Amino acid sequence: MVIQYYSRKCDVCNKGMEEGFLLAGFEYACSKECLEKMPNYSWKTYLEDNAIDGDNTYYTSWEQDWNSEETLFLADGTEVDNPFFESDLELLRSRHNEGKTS
Ligand SMILES: [Zn+2]
Repeated sequence: MVIQYYSRKCDVCNKGMEEGFLLAGFEYACSKECLEKMPNYSWKTYLEDNAIDGDNTYYTSWEQDWNSEETLFLADGTEVDNPFFESDLELLRSRHNEGKTS
């Protein structure tokens, strides 16, 4: 069985997601339906925030850019260590060793 990993988790329905809304730079909603269920939030608020602060409030897909993510999510929102993640430390070490000639 192949495990399906997701880059983000919806803050409303708690499901793993690969595309959806980023709100104010730190909250996630997987769909318009979930977005409208957020406390004190609405589609209208989203459109206003997107216009004012488009760098932090927008719709996107994360395209599984997993080299930079330490943790990933399963379909049910469980946070797991990213099995594809290569930490900076390991990267530095391998570069360091490559530079050595003995
Ligand atoms: Zn959701």
